Amino acid sequence: MGRDDRDDGSFDDEPDDVKLDDDSGDSLFQTEADVTCPYCGESVQITLDPDGGEEQEYVQDCEVCCRPWTVHVTYDDEGAADVSADTTE
Ligand SMILES: [Zn+2]
Repeated sequence: MGRDDRDDGSFDDEPDDVKLDDDSGDSLFQTEADVTCPYCGESVQITLDPDGGEEQEYVQDCEVCCRPWTVHVTYDDEGAADVSADTTE
């Protein structure tokens, strides 16, 4: 019972290009992200600071277990953040 049979032809236009594509200065940088704590495994939402630059690394404590993460943030051209949290050890 294929519940989503592939339908050729519905893939012809690119859905990623729908949003506004002007670079007139107000890029929408992502300001929140979910990361998984490397210690306790909980998913925690953190707040990002786009003013910190395209690549950031800082230490932040887990809200659940209070242990320190090293947080890595990388913004791509569209303002989407790639965020990961590692142990500080
Ligand atoms: Zn934790």
